Amino acid sequence: MIDGKAVAAKLRATVAVRVASLRFTPGLAVILVGDDPASAVYVRSKDRAAKEAGIAARTIRMPADTPEVLLLAEIARLNADPDTDGILVQLPLPPHIDAVAVIEAIDPAKDVDGFHPLNVGALASGRPALVPCTPAGVMKLLHHAGVQLSGARALVLGRSSIVGRPMALLLLAADATVTIAHSRTRDLAGECRRAEVLIAATGRPEMVRGDWIGEGATVIDVGIDRLPDGRLVGDVAYAECAERAGAITPVPGGVGPMTIACLLENTVEAAVRRRGG
Ligand code: NAP
Repeated sequence: MIDGKAVAAKLRATVAVRVASLRFTPGLAVILVGDDPASAVYVRSKDRAAKEAGIAARTIRMPADTPEVLLLAEIARLNADPDTDGILVQLPLPPHIDAVAVIEAIDPAKDVDGFHPLNVGALASGRPALVPCTPAGVMKLLHHAGVQLSGARALVLGRSSIVGRPMALLLLAADATVTIAHSRTRDLAGECRRAEVLIAATGRPEMVRGDWIGEGATVIDVGIDRLPDGRLVGDVAYAECAERAGAITPVPGGVGPMTIACLLENTVEAAVRRRGG
């Protein structure tokens, strides 16, 4: 079992040491629009983790009916604020707000989620700047588990812009042979079985079954899915898949903690690039 909690704790400690060595305090602003309970939990965790690492974090809460223009004005203010190094707008946004316009309004140098088109383009052209936190966290877990990526057959299940696509680009940059699978893929089970490294990011609870896993494969489960009975599971049927996998992440305690740790790292990275070490 790849222990994401432990790897994330180490990374957070490393970030804290780096923050302590700086001659300024990096600043992170997290904007939460509305009162989606899951988003509120994520934002609280990010805020707490940032403060523990010595980052000056603040959460800006805006009501669900905030007009888009007010949100854009807040982002413009933070873009211009010299003490703010990282800006994160918690997604999803209420339906009346254009999330693409909001992401594009963030200064790319402060875009610690790595979702701005300039950062996406940099990653796609092999010159990564600020990399999306979840795929960055997966790469660190693979590194920690000693997985040899160069030449390996890697399959990314899911093609969202926040997980699947950047994940595939990072694996490609690490010289893996990458396949991206999605809801139109034929013979999904067969594609999965051929993979030496399988990253699942579909949001479909436990859809990856034990007999989809190649013997000894590394399985990373990005999914965070709530079952009707309230239990939290991943996209991978853990017990079945663990029998065949060489290494596997649990849910919770796998990728989730890494996402937050990488957000802290991105914040410090953005701060140092902007202000110097
Ligand atoms: P998303 O935007 O809904 O994308 C899901 C992807 O999975 C899509 O590309 C979709 O294919 C594909 N897919 C859905 N059903 C499928 C099926 N039956 N067979 C094959 N492919 C299928 O989701 P997301 O934002 O990437 O998130 C994915 C999961 O990761 C969710 O459980 C989310 O909660 C979790 N997540 C976790 C973290 C973390 O920190 N651990 C961070 C972000 C997300 P199409 O494109 O063809 O529709």
